Amino acid sequence: MTRGLLIVFSGPSGVGKGTVRKEIFDTPSHSFEYSVSATTRAKREGEVDGVDYHFISREEFEKMIENGEMLEYAEYVGNYYGTPLKYVNETLDKGKDVFLEIEVKGALQVKEKAPDGVFIFLTPPDLAELRKRITGRGTDSPEVIEQRMQTAREEIEMMSLYDYAVVNDEVHHAAERVKNIIKSEHFRVNRV
Ligand code: 5GP
Repeated sequence: MTRGLLIVFSGPSGVGKGTVRKEIFDTPSHSFEYSVSATTRAKREGEVDGVDYHFISREEFEKMIENGEMLEYAEYVGNYYGTPLKYVNETLDKGKDVFLEIEVKGALQVKEKAPDGVFIFLTPPDLAELRKRITGRGTDSPEVIEQRMQTAREEIEMMSLYDYAVVNDEVHHAAERVKNIIKSEHFRVNRV
């Protein structure tokens, strides 16, 4: 059986990855499976364990790292986030595509381990728009906003390591572009 495609959807913090990912899964063009990440951050209102994330303790997370059970992981704003390897491998082996939504450091680790993945970078229309979105969340101090903007600038420089860049000018359009990329990837003859 042909292995499924590993789709890595990534981009700077605040660009709207989560919103675009939800739109993609709400209006799927074909079936792919979402890889539910593990995290040590607290559950937000409305989030469901096992659906949005596997919410686990730092000890459990570190044990998984030690045992080699994470495809990738990163520390982000004081919490661990990572992709459990077992689910990804089992699903790809069944011939199904797997969709990861992860931040940039994690995506670069996946690129090392699985260069045949499809790497899609979601980018803001421009930095002023990104600042507006980050500021619009409301809770960050001016210093934290500057830190996030600096991280975003550094992350945007990583774009050339990806296969595709998609501008998030409008959620529906961005989601359509991502779905079209995935569709086309199924016709690819040569893979790395
Ligand atoms: P949030 O706390 O807002 O749900 O997520 C924070 C950041 O972590 C987002 O940029 C999200 O894409 C990223 N993220 C979620 N799951 C993973 C993961 O498994 N690995 C990595 N590296 N980043 C993740």
